[in-house]
Amino acid sequence: MTISTRLQQVSSQYADKTAFEFMGKETTYRELEIGISTFAFQLEEMGIKKGDHVALLLGNSPHFIISLYGCLRVGATVIPVNPIYTLDEIQYILQNGDVKALIGLDLVRPMMQVFEKTVPSIEHFIVCETSPNQDPFTSKKMKSFTRLLSAIRPGYVGPVNELDDVAVILYTSGTTGQPKGAMLTHQNILSNAHDIGDYLSMSDQDRVITTLPMFHIFCLTVVLNAPLLRGATLLLLPKFSPKEVFEIARERKATIFAGVPTMYNFLFQYPEGKQEDFTSMRLCISGGASLPVALLENFEQKFDVQISEGYGLSEAAPVTCFNPIDRPRKPGSIGTSIMNVENKVVNELGEEVPVGEVGELIVRGPNVMKGYYKMPEETAVTIRDEWLYTGDMAKQDEEGYFYIVDRKKDMIIVGGYNVYPREVEEVLYRHPNVVEAAVIGVPHPELGEAVKCFVVGKDGLTKDEVMTHCEASLAKYKLPSSIEFINELPKNTTGKILRRALKEQLGVS
Ligand code: AMP
Repeated sequence: MTISTRLQQVSSQYADKTAFEFMGKETTYRELEIGISTFAFQLEEMGIKKGDHVALLLGNSPHFIISLYGCLRVGATVIPVNPIYTLDEIQYILQNGDVKALIGLDLVRPMMQVFEKTVPSIEHFIVCETSPNQDPFTSKKMKSFTRLLSAIRPGYVGPVNELDDVAVILYTSGTTGQPKGAMLTHQNILSNAHDIGDYLSMSDQDRVITTLPMFHIFCLTVVLNAPLLRGATLLLLPKFSPKEVFEIARERKATIFAGVPTMYNFLFQYPEGKQEDFTSMRLCISGGASLPVALLENFEQKFDVQISEGYGLSEAAPVTCFNPIDRPRKPGSIGTSIMNVENKVVNELGEEVPVGEVGELIVRGPNVMKGYYKMPEETAVTIRDEWLYTGDMAKQDEEGYFYIVDRKKDMIIVGGYNVYPREVEEVLYRHPNVVEAAVIGVPHPELGEAVKCFVVGKDGLTKDEVMTHCEASLAKYKLPSSIEFINELPKNTTGKILRRALKEQLGVS
């Protein structure tokens, strides 16, 4: 069964149930199915065939959901792109991804007009109007999403897809060079959505706040596909705002919230957030970056709800480990391997290291990508003997719980000693007046590298206080050689803190 056939089945089972709520409007599974069927039919009429690539330049909205599943129904491969990327970044993806159609909000029409000239492979531009009375289209290639959807065509089935067909190509920023397109098959996404759904006991009773960006795999699998494929209801938020999360949680009785650690920090710091807002919440999920233990504990205490941390990456569609909800959960850990996925910690030779020792985390399972699009050499480096090399350093305990130590490339070597930024950040987050913190390595004339901390502080926090706090918990070589106060840490659209951007600001590579 592919993603589209599974969703079709769910839609007939839950036809009258609300699939998603968006800006006060509820859409049932029946209406969703009609939208998908109609859109897929229109795509076929336009000449979009099985295997063609369609890019989405959309924020969180019903447009995204209908476009995604409509493309999959017609057998196309979807390339979701972050709409706030620069023109050059998007153009690179469209060109590299051999895109035949582009679906975007009317806001990006000026960009589409540029791509009409610079990306000749694109034959169709589908514009999602957000208000009536848009400027008329000047080009034959431009089509209106609303108009396409108005010619209702229920029951369109589309061509047969195989589980091994590529459903989505996700461009990941990568550590070096240009972004790489991770090819995820129907099998990759379906199996991961199914396994994580089971692991977290998701059901048709769940009401899931979907505010993570849909173009990111965390959202795509965990809070879009997994709940929809179980008949749950999505509470869509176009973008993250603590005020709206608390409001929607309270008013729409949300049961699951998923976010990256910075979102938990924003929610925790939000002065009007109250425990009563989260009364209906049964589970909070964190992933995408390490969740500082101090933040987890403070948050759970304030809102009386459990946060379960998991780990994943685009190349694994994404989840490999999660903290269980029916067995003890360990703060600071990413939990145990989810069903059908194997995780292993290995040394430089690819040999498994003993429990407690640090090595690279490698992953095997039905969720591991097919490879990078048109990059066989990069693929061969990343996937060896079916194992995906994550580039993350980790260790395992005797009960099978994994702990991410840090990214391999972020390790700082101070006079020959390894320092993982996360360890220092964990200590910083334990200070009550540290709002956010990030640690990077900077060149040092004698030691090679030294630790530098960036801190967002409150209530008049001083550098001396930060230093004294660190001295109480960290070995000397791990202590910051410099501390800089900053108003806000740079983050990507998913909310992940960008240590790389801090290095670039300092001219350190
Ligand atoms: P992406 O492909 O954008 O999803 O990024 C994947 C990367 O995010 C992983 O390789 C990790 O470095 C990081 N990551 C994801 N989840 C966690 C976590 N729970 N703890 C630490 N790092 C994480």
